[in-house]
Amino acid sequence: MDYKNLIAGSWEATTEARPNVNPSDTGDILGQAALGGTADMDRAISSAKAAAPGWAGATPQARFDVLDFIGSEILARKAELGQLLSREEGKTLPEGIGEAARAGQIFKFFAGECLRQTGDRLASVRPGVEVDVTRAPVGVVGLITPWNFPIAIPAWKIAPALAYGNAVVLKPAELTPGCAWALAEIISRSGLPEGVFNLIFGQGSVVGQHLVEHSDVDAISFTGSVPTGRGIAVSCAQSMKKVQLEMGGKNPMVVLDDADLDLAVEACLNGAFYSTGQRCTASSRLIVTEGVHDRFVAVLTAAMQGLRVGNALESGIQMGPVVDGHQLDQNLSYLQVAAQEGGKVIGGERLSLEQEGFYMAPALVTETSNEMRINQEEVFGPVASVLRARDYEEALSLANDSDFGLSAGICTTSLKRASHFKANAEAGMVMVNLPTAGVDYHVPFGGTKGSSYGAREQGSYAAEFYTRVKTAYTLP
Ligand code: NAD
Repeated sequence: MDYKNLIAGSWEATTEARPNVNPSDTGDILGQAALGGTADMDRAISSAKAAAPGWAGATPQARFDVLDFIGSEILARKAELGQLLSREEGKTLPEGIGEAARAGQIFKFFAGECLRQTGDRLASVRPGVEVDVTRAPVGVVGLITPWNFPIAIPAWKIAPALAYGNAVVLKPAELTPGCAWALAEIISRSGLPEGVFNLIFGQGSVVGQHLVEHSDVDAISFTGSVPTGRGIAVSCAQSMKKVQLEMGGKNPMVVLDDADLDLAVEACLNGAFYSTGQRCTASSRLIVTEGVHDRFVAVLTAAMQGLRVGNALESGIQMGPVVDGHQLDQNLSYLQVAAQEGGKVIGGERLSLEQEGFYMAPALVTETSNEMRINQEEVFGPVASVLRARDYEEALSLANDSDFGLSAGICTTSLKRASHFKANAEAGMVMVNLPTAGVDYHVPFGGTKGSSYGAREQGSYAAEFYTRVKTAYTLP
């Protein structure tokens, strides 16, 4: 399979290509992805620029029809797309199918939003004058996406971009070209005018950087790591582009003495280890109060050690491989650092299974303190640490002692503590008796502090990023 670039409605190969490797079975190469250069990116941007005015002027019905087509096809093919996703990224098949379905639902939601674009008419302070406040498309938007949600994240950027009348250039992650290509292929048959959507594969530091710096790009929406995001923010400030960044997390899950223990263990097991812990919203710091700490660690350890790790496509597997060798080395080296700093590491061994893949056992690091690197830096793997807290007040203070602020959870049966935590946790998303990961698609997504920058994604709040507000005065 060749994953080609899509420029002005044409599929284009490049002279160099990059293999798409199955992390569950490294002998399985899914295909070869184009490796675009800056000249390809230039042409994709000009194509988007040329097509932008036409799409900005398209009727809500025309936009609805396109988005509805894309959503319907993704939903109809969710099993096949989910399998492709799990094969190239390594999350389990049910998770892969669930993510594909989510992408379809997102397009369906934004199809509806095409028909719900409103403005305001206000009385003027001047006699006889009318004032209208409307939202206009931003123009050409560059979308840069990570590998860990290879279909849902492109979908949650592309769908609102198109719904609000923008033209798009997508630069997906190098490790997961298959899902980006499959989505682009569906979009190319949706009735969307040629050039409104373009896809360029390639290295982030080459084509991604070029997209960010290009003067014909009006806005950049990025999801990925903090260092990359920081560089993009600086570059966008220089060229005065609108920018939106969704980055890492070090998400706390507080477990209080009064929690339902089974529910807390299930929420932590899911939040920390599902999707191999490769979620920006993963529960990576488990902050447990004194009275329940030892029992919680014992029950969670047993549950974690019972997780079936293996080939993402096999039925019954609960945790797939790490996405690649680089990420696997990073996870294992964080466990070494945690042990050197005094943590007690349970699990986390490199696993050799029947097929050659990037497998490791899930890991829990106990007896940690919040200053340790394992509690301050994002690992992005199946690794969670446990912190002991005297009481709720100390647990909240530990939860907030982080440069990140994406998602924060609490397990408690106290309504008073839950309400206090919702109001005082320094995070963009707060979960009560639920894992820190796992969100709805029709409400805003995003964090505070070092996790996010700019307007929220998803739901009708996406209009804040993908439109510009225009105020018009008329004397009839
Ligand atoms: P990454 O920052 O390495 O790459 C993300 C994207 O940026 C890729 O497409 C990459 O090619 C591109 N890129 C790299 N350098 C670039 C540059 N100089 N200019 C422009 N683009 C460039 O991140 P990753 O390893 O793909 O993803 C993992 C990270 O993503 C984790 O930190 C995770 O927490 C974060 N993430 C955040 C969210 C969220 O919504 N907050 C969701 C998923 C993942």
